[in-house]
Amino acid sequence: MTQEKAEVLILGSGPAGYTAAIYAARAGLKPLMYQGGQPGGQLTITTDVENYPGYPEGIQGPEMMEDFRKQAERFGLDNRYGMATKVDFSIPMAHKVIIDGSHEITASTVVIATGASAKWLGLESEQRLNGYGVSACAVCDGFFFRGQDVAIVGAGDTACEEAHYLSKLCKKVFMLVRRDEFRASLIMQQRVKATSNIEILFNTETVEVLGEDGVIGAKIRNTISKEEKIIDVTGFFVAIGHQPNTQIFDGYLTMDEAGYLETEKGSSRTNIEGVFACGDAQDKIYRQAVTAAGSGCMAALDAERYLAGKDLH
Ligand code: NDP
Repeated sequence: MTQEKAEVLILGSGPAGYTAAIYAARAGLKPLMYQGGQPGGQLTITTDVENYPGYPEGIQGPEMMEDFRKQAERFGLDNRYGMATKVDFSIPMAHKVIIDGSHEITASTVVIATGASAKWLGLESEQRLNGYGVSACAVCDGFFFRGQDVAIVGAGDTACEEAHYLSKLCKKVFMLVRRDEFRASLIMQQRVKATSNIEILFNTETVEVLGEDGVIGAKIRNTISKEEKIIDVTGFFVAIGHQPNTQIFDGYLTMDEAGYLETEKGSSRTNIEGVFACGDAQDKIYRQAVTAAGSGCMAALDAERYLAGKDLH
C-alpha cells in the first residue's frame, strides 16, 4: 500500500467538493481531492441548469462542472481520479482514508462531499432518456415542461412536494403510486389530493418510458388488474428517494437512519474532530447545486479554522 500525507483531503467532486477545494486552495492549504465514482457529481447527468446564479443564459450541467474543476485547479488543487474505499477516523489530525484499496492518505482534515445518488426504477428506457425528458429533480427540470403533461413516480414527501411544484408549471401531473396508499406525511398527501391538475394513480407501476430522442409517453400497469395503458406525457420524473453515498463512514460518523451525515447546526462539523461534511451527503432537504456549493465553502472555512487552532464553534 502506497502512503501519503495531506492537510485537507476532499472526497467528492460535485459543487460542494469543488467549492471546498477553491476556498481551501486559495487559503494555501494545498487540498487534495479524490473525485469519486462520478467525477463532477450529479450535475454531469443533467442537461440545462438555469437556476444556478451567475449564468443568465443557463449552462449545461457537465460544462458547469468543468468550470468548477478549472477554477479549483487554477488555484492549485491536486485533483485525482479515485474512490475512497475505507476510512479510519480514530486518530485526530491523522485520519486515514484508503483510495481504491491501494493508496493510504493520512489527513489532518477530511472534507466529505460524496453526495447522494437518486434512486431509479431500473428500466432501460428510463436510463436511455435520462436528461431527455426523464429527470430525478422537478425543481431543476420542471421549468422545461411548462404547459405540458408530465408524470411523477413516488409516494413519499419528495414526490408530493415535487408533484405540487410541477402542478404550478404543467398542465397536468400524473402521480404514479405503486401501492394503494402514500408514504408521505398527511399534510403533503392532502396538498396533492386538493390540487385539481394532479391525477393520482394508485397501484400503478411503470412498464416503460416511451420515446426515442425525448419522452412521448409512458406505458403503465395496474398492479391489481394487470391492465396496461399509455399516458401521453413529455416529462417523466422519478422521486423514489435518494441514497447518500456515506456507507464507508458507518461506524465513525453519526448519520440518520437513511444514511445522511449529521452536522452541527450552522456548521459543517461532524461528530469527529477534523472531519467536515457538506453537500448532499448531509442534506436531505434542499439538495440544490447552489446550497451544496455554499456548504462546501463552510466546510473549507471550518477546516481552515480548525487547522489554525481557531475553531469558532
Ligand atoms: P421516501 O423513502 O420517504 O419515499 C420513497 C417513495 O418512493 C415511497 O413512497 C416508495 O414507495 C416509492 N418507491 C420506492 N421505490 C419505488 C419503485 N421502485 N417504484 C415505485 N415507487 C417506489 O423518500 P423521499 O425522498 O420522499 O423522502 C426522504 C426523506 O426526506 C423522508 O424522511 C421525508 O419525510 C423527507 N422529506 C421531507 C420533506 C418535507 O418535510 N418537506 C420533503 C422531502 C423529503 P412505498 O411507499 O411503496 O415504499
